[in-house]
Formats: sequence, C-alpha cells, structure tokens
Amino acid sequence: MKITNVTAHCLTQKLDGNNRFDSAFSTFTERAACLVEIETDTGLIGWGECLGPNKVNAAIVEAMTPALIGRDPLDIEPIWFDLYSAWRDQGQRGVTMTAQSGIDIALWDIAGKHFGVPVYRLLGGAHRTSVPAYATGGFRPRDKDRLERLVEETAAYMADGFTATKIKIGFGVDEDEAVIRAVRDAIGDDAELMIDANHGYDAIEAIELGRRIADCRIGWFEEPVVPEQLNAYRRVREGQPIPVAGGETWHGRLAHRQAIEADAIDILQPDVAGCGGITEMRKIIAHAETSGIRVVPHVWGTGVNVAASLHMLATIPPQPGRHSSRDPWLEFDQTPHAYRMAVLQDPITQTAGRVAVPDKPGLGVEIDRHVLEEFRA
Ligand SMILES: [Mg+2]
Repeated sequence: MKITNVTAHCLTQKLDGNNRFDSAFSTFTERAACLVEIETDTGLIGWGECLGPNKVNAAIVEAMTPALIGRDPLDIEPIWFDLYSAWRDQGQRGVTMTAQSGIDIALWDIAGKHFGVPVYRLLGGAHRTSVPAYATGGFRPRDKDRLERLVEETAAYMADGFTATKIKIGFGVDEDEAVIRAVRDAIGDDAELMIDANHGYDAIEAIELGRRIADCRIGWFEEPVVPEQLNAYRRVREGQPIPVAGGETWHGRLAHRQAIEADAIDILQPDVAGCGGITEMRKIIAHAETSGIRVVPHVWGTGVNVAASLHMLATIPPQPGRHSSRDPWLEFDQTPHAYRMAVLQDPITQTAGRVAVPDKPGLGVEIDRHVLEEFRA
C-alpha cells in the first residue's frame, strides 16, 4: 500500500454578535478546524485532525506532503520519526507538531481499516468500551450577565444527563469566586465541577482563588498560569488545595516529560490532535503512568478529534488496579459549533453522561463530504 494524496481541509463557521464568547485571553469569533485526508493506492482513506489555526496547519501539512507520497501508510512510527527529524530545527512544538498530529491520526485510521479493527485494538486493546464525559462550556458570554448565563448553562448540562462540567475562569479572582459558587449551587453537590483559567492568572492570583474556593469540591484547576512557567505551576500546586491540570499546549512527549519531572501537575492533559498524534500520545500516557500522574485528555475540535480521543481513552490503564476502577473523562465541548459533529455521518453523542468508544475499523467514523463543502474556509 502506498500514500497517493494528502489533503488538508480547512473549515470555518463565523460566529457573530451574541454567539461570540471569551476565554481568559481570547475571543472566539469563528469555529475553525483543519481535517487531514490521506488517500492510498488501495482506495483506503484515512482522516485526522490538527489542533489550532486551520490555515497554518494546512500549510504545514501541505509542506510535509512530499515526504509522505509513495510511502507505506502502515510505517507509522518511521513516518513519525522522519517528519519530526526533518522539521526538528524549527519544529519540536507548536504548529509543526499539531500538523504532524493530524497526519499521524489519519495513518492510524488507515491502518485500522486495513486490518479491519478499531484503532484501540491496534494499540493493544481497550480497558473500557465507554467513558464518562464532562461538558465543556461556561465561557464568558456576550448576550447576558456572566454569572446568570453560566448558572443557566451548567444546569442545562445536568438536565441533558451530564454529571460533570468545566467552566472558564481567569476573569478576576472576586468575579470568578462568585461565579464558581453560583455554579456549584446550580448543579448540586453530587455533580463534578472543574475550572479552567486558560493561563489567565499568575501564581499569586491562582493560589488566592484556589484557597478561597477550597470548599467547592473542584475536580481540577486547569492551566492556572502560562504553560512555559513550570515553576509557577509548581507554586500553585504547593500553595492551594485543588489538583492542578495542564498539557493542551505541551506538544510532544519531551514537553510533557518536562512538566512531569518539574512536579508541575497532578493531571496531564495531552490533546491527540496537538501532542503529536496517537503515536506520540501513547508514549505520553506510558510516561505519565510510570510517574503516577493521572491522564485526562484535552479535546477541542470536531468529531474526528473526539473519535481519536475516545480510542486513546479506551487504552489509558486504570490507575491503580482495583475492584472499582476510575475511568478517565472525555472532554466533550458543548459550545456553539455548527459542524462539530455534523462532519460525521453518525454523530458521537452522550447518554446519561457516558460516550461509547467507536468499534468500527479505524477511527470508526465516516465523513460527510457535503458538510466539508458547506463549511469550507
Ligand atoms: Mg483548557
């Protein structure tokens, strides 16, 4: 089998007026995605997705394509090594790695289809066939008071069957504390609640907030500080009681290793579409397991990323082994996004807060090409 063609599909949906929303440092004015399609001389096609800016990812995928044409798509590890080596001098992290992630995921999709098994089977089998999902939302809205909107939104997730949700903070300690307390009241004591500052704080602010909301039973405090400052991460861990999570911007296994070795985090959050794909993520998972660090993948993108993430989630070993193991969470974005699941012929959905791992060959999803055309950037 040989690779004959590689296509990066850039998709977008403009968000206007009241549909725009803010994280601590950015405003979402569109929903952008870059899907990677790899064709072979046998007719088998694989799909992947790149985390981050769609047109930059697409340009790098295009630049990497000559190195892929004519190669056997089952040579996944050698291809990964060769791409990484070729781009090392200006790569290692950032958009070269997110672009390579999309290529790698598509190769695993092809391999699964070639052997007639789901990707998790190629990875050695599944510890579980479904995972609990938490609803990601709670950004700062444009159409309403933030506290009022987040109370309404998170209560709606619970009504939909979710048992866990994550909200965005990093807008000021006083305001964030009030919002977190109101959301905790709205979703009840039994629901899981996580907070994500999108590195909107410095260590002093993060420690202050973490101490103030110690009674709110927060599952984790995500990206409290900027990801380059592993010493600040460690100070936040030591200075307040909530477990600290991070990893969506630490691309590549070496960046994740540095965070683990710096004692920067309690929970590691690699994104399969950003950290180097399935090939790199399984090494990150192995290193985290070796170090006693919990892995809860970051997931932000279309159903292609969600499917790839579900295969990774199936393979994360339960830590520790015991009678009733704790399954890792799927991050399930619930914010406005017209084609997130529409790109799949069969959308991935949750039932009573759980999502099944796809069990058809490859990633187990089929793409709706009409939707690619409809949202082409
Ligand atoms: Mg995050």
